[in-house]
Amino acid sequence: MALHVGLVGLPNVGKSTLFNALTNASVPAENYPFCTIDPHVAVTEVPDERLTKMAAIFNSQKIIPTTVQFVDIAGLVKGAASGEGLGNKFLSNVMETDLILHVLRCFDDADITHVDNHVNPSSDFDTIVTELCLKDMESLEKRLKKTEMLMKKAKSSGDAKEVKKLTAEQELLAEVQKALDATDAIKVTQLVSDAREHGITTISLLAAKKFLVVANVGEDEFAEQGYKDNTHYQALISRFGQERVIVASARIEAELAQMESEEAEEMKQDLGITETGLYNIIRTAYHHLGLITFFTCGPKEAHAWSIRRGTKAPAAAGTIHSDLERGFICAETYSCQDMFAEGTEAGLKQSGKMRTEGKEYVIQDGDVINVRFNV
Ligand code: GDP
Repeated sequence: MALHVGLVGLPNVGKSTLFNALTNASVPAENYPFCTIDPHVAVTEVPDERLTKMAAIFNSQKIIPTTVQFVDIAGLVKGAASGEGLGNKFLSNVMETDLILHVLRCFDDADITHVDNHVNPSSDFDTIVTELCLKDMESLEKRLKKTEMLMKKAKSSGDAKEVKKLTAEQELLAEVQKALDATDAIKVTQLVSDAREHGITTISLLAAKKFLVVANVGEDEFAEQGYKDNTHYQALISRFGQERVIVASARIEAELAQMESEEAEEMKQDLGITETGLYNIIRTAYHHLGLITFFTCGPKEAHAWSIRRGTKAPAAAGTIHSDLERGFICAETYSCQDMFAEGTEAGLKQSGKMRTEGKEYVIQDGDVINVRFNV
């Protein structure tokens, strides 16, 4: 499933350093032939110890994790929405992403200039979001005009259903307009997602994209969780909440990503790092993309697959191969946690933990499936 996370950030916040670390941690291309090689895209594996455990049980020759793709979206400057720099190209790249990762500078370093001459990640975030909101304002005004035209038509033809639909959309657009005026991305996201739940759809908006922020702290602060005293980091947590803020030190990540695993392990121990920033970024992004993982396992390979939460068994089978969806009969299914408890397939069968699921079954995170099909 090719979902993309777009990295954005003002110049000199550590975005390229972080992107290079992601690139260095990228998957070997031969395992993922469907991925196009593009210098602006880093395809990273999603660490998942359940997969390693399943591979050990099945003695699998090959382990194939799921991936998350990160796209380096360069060139944002103040004025992007009015076409400054590569403004418009940048904004259309943002539109194509499924999740925005704001890289925000929280490190002080007098040698590295900041575009506004002072470090203030919260205001950097606003600078970027302002550009997104300005662009959205243009799209929104166009859409409002269009809905007015459509409304006239619907009223004159007596189409009450259409009038009701358009009224709901216009009300939503008016609310969104207020939130855009206040450059309140959280409010825009909330409004659009609530509206969607009520069946109200409208144009795609940049400010309505899901987002996470990376607090790029100094390398000395990352060790032993010293960043907890960093006031910029604290400000981000109180503004966005713990679950939206990922802490990392781009410099450390870049160094670690270049090392052999033993050497990297040593450095992590020296610095008192249990989980690297990169690990957290990948895991959190995967979660916020709304993805879950299921597995197919055998002696040849243990393979993790990504699907959106709520996907039914035939569509999940289709991510493995389209024939499996077309000819889907049923899926022998069990949870990997049950396998860790039982140890063997025979044990699972005996305890009734291996089930046969049909076309309506919704795949759960951690399911292991074996698809029966006929084409
Ligand atoms: P970009 O313009 O946002 O892509 O920024 P870069 O990744 O090119 O980084 C700009 C400068 O900041 C480079 O000299 C980096 O080495 C430096 N930098 C990035 N992260 C850190 C950090 O965590 N600590 C310090 N001291 N410098 C950093």
